[in-house]
Amino acid sequence: MGKVLEKGAAALDTFLVLDRTVTVVGRSCHGQGSSYDAESRRLEICYDEVAEDRSLFQEARDPRPDDAATAVVAETVFHEAGHALVDDLRLSLSDRNEEDAADQFAALMLIRQGVEGERQLRQAAREYELSAPTGDASATDDRDEHSSDLQRAANHLCYLYGASPTRNADLVHTRYLSARRAAGCGTEWAHVRSTWTRNLAPALR
Ligand SMILES: [Zn+2]
Repeated sequence: MGKVLEKGAAALDTFLVLDRTVTVVGRSCHGQGSSYDAESRRLEICYDEVAEDRSLFQEARDPRPDDAATAVVAETVFHEAGHALVDDLRLSLSDRNEEDAADQFAALMLIRQGVEGERQLRQAAREYELSAPTGDASATDDRDEHSSDLQRAANHLCYLYGASPTRNADLVHTRYLSARRAAGCGTEWAHVRSTWTRNLAPALR
């Protein structure tokens, strides 16, 4: 677990050129969830969530639940880092759009790592699937600024397929990624990538 956080922090140092440091910490959070606090610049990863995710994967008979939970942490660190960037770059986005942008940033950071990152993004998508409430796949909780878990899973799978269709062909024709949506994933992914690259331009100079 400590190693996962270190890895996440190191990735931030490597990929983001920010004027100020973001500290990544793991802590018990009593159901509050992982978060980024702009004032203290602390990115907090919730231990309880990691344990819950591990159980989810275990119940789903995942052969390597620790590995899968680690992948979710990696995605979470990048998601929260996305919030830090939205803040630093003063991007004016609605709450929902900011959440989607943070998910897209996480996808970008993982996919750019190649096969291993893609594998982690798959596992993060799987976690959304496993934690989604059963029933209406399109249902969205209005009290939550995030897209629904199933939408978030579908988006990640679409980005994976859009980024490398050959490697991720097995994701198409599944419950989450229809052939119809998959056809547009190359374009969706290109848009996600160029939007973030453009947003990051001032920070990279
Ligand atoms: Zn968020």
